[in-house]
Amino acid sequence: MQNTVLVVGGGPAGLSAAATVSASGFDAVVVEKEEVLGGAPILSGYAKLVPSGEWAKDAIGRMVTRVVDDANVTIHTAAKVTRLEGEPGNFTATLSNGETVSAGAIVLGTGFTHFDPINKPEWGFGTFEDVLTTTQMEQMVGAGEIRCPSDGRVPQRVAILLCVGSRDRQIGREWCSKICCTVSSNLAMEIKELSPETDVFIYYMDIRTFGLYEDKFYWKSQEEFKTKYVKARIAEVTASGDGRLLVKGEDTLVKRPIVIPFDLVVHAIGMDPNEDNPDISRVFGVGLERHGFIARAEHYTNSCGTTRQGIYSAGAAYGPETIDDSISQGHTAGARAVADLYALVRKAG
Ligand SMILES: Cc1cc2nc3c(=O)[nH]c(=O)nc-3n(C[C@H](O)[C@H](O)[C@H](O)COP(=O)(O)OP(=O)(O)OC[C@H]3O[C@@H](n4cnc5c(N)ncnc54)[C@H](O)[C@@H]3O)c2cc1C
Ligand code: SF4
Repeated sequence: MQNTVLVVGGGPAGLSAAATVSASGFDAVVVEKEEVLGGAPILSGYAKLVPSGEWAKDAIGRMVTRVVDDANVTIHTAAKVTRLEGEPGNFTATLSNGETVSAGAIVLGTGFTHFDPINKPEWGFGTFEDVLTTTQMEQMVGAGEIRCPSDGRVPQRVAILLCVGSRDRQIGREWCSKICCTVSSNLAMEIKELSPETDVFIYYMDIRTFGLYEDKFYWKSQEEFKTKYVKARIAEVTASGDGRLLVKGEDTLVKRPIVIPFDLVVHAIGMDPNEDNPDISRVFGVGLERHGFIARAEHYTNSCGTTRQGIYSAGAAYGPETIDDSISQGHTAGARAVADLYALVRKAG
């Protein structure tokens, strides 16, 4: 019986799973495929997080430091699990760096992959330099200056297009990515703060700033930061001929075509299943749900389980998720892994 839990993925979910395993007196081994820990908020350079307003590098940085400084946690970066043998209580994982890890249980905190807006070519990403993603815009906010990449001018108008790669059956993305409305409302305020002369428009189908986010982000961005919300269906983004971009679509409230020139267009990209999931499914022997995210065992009595006993999951690996919920699920998965290992020990007498 191994008193070790293998945690795959070092994002918010995996880091909290490892911290809980260690706090329970067990050892955790974290295997992260990238060179650094922290998951999407660090790897993609997010700016201030919702809802806390803290810079991602500080907030997630604290989570990283907590496990890096923990003597009960061993970390392998730039590594993947290539082979898994054994059973609950006694797994052996072979890593791409040639090492092996013995563990009683496994938590998959392997997260998601950002939607690549090149798959939505009519909206201009990849064609026009001044069409960016929310992650690129967050990096610009982090650098402290809002400029058009094409010629460095301060934009007079920025359009943020919601649901890019989400809620779009035509391209096989039926799900809502849950957090991008709130992230975009927040981004609009950050742009205005850094560049008061810039007007920000948000093009939406519906606004899903759930729970307390409605007031803190949606209304605040309109009332205090003058963000303009346009309910519209976007047809295409084209060049205007004077160096600007034209966002063309239909205003779905008044049912009229609208064409507005912008200096910058930002795609609020959604959360795809981790592109590694077919491999993860094969190596770990866990099922995927129909969109390609990790399948849950059972919602109410084993919400952090996968289809294979002894292997748990948490966070955006299961589907679009917020950081706060990914952290909670990571703690839950770590605790459940340890509890099930205790049960195996008791059973073995
Ligand atoms: C533009 C944008 C902005 C966002 N801003 C916010 C925000 O402000 N607030 C908020 O609550 N949420 C935000 N989110 C959502 C947030 O990114 C997720 O909630 C969070 O990253 C999920 O954490 P996770 O640990 O489950 O997954 P991830 O952050 O994706 O971490 C998964 C980790 O696993 C690693 N990994 C993947 N596959 C393997 C493998 N095969 N082997 C080993 N390691 C692997 C990855 O490299 C990564 O480090 C935003 C999302 C987007 C798209
Ligand atoms: S959270 Fe908002 S932007 Fe994101 S997919 Fe859902 S409705 Fe669209």
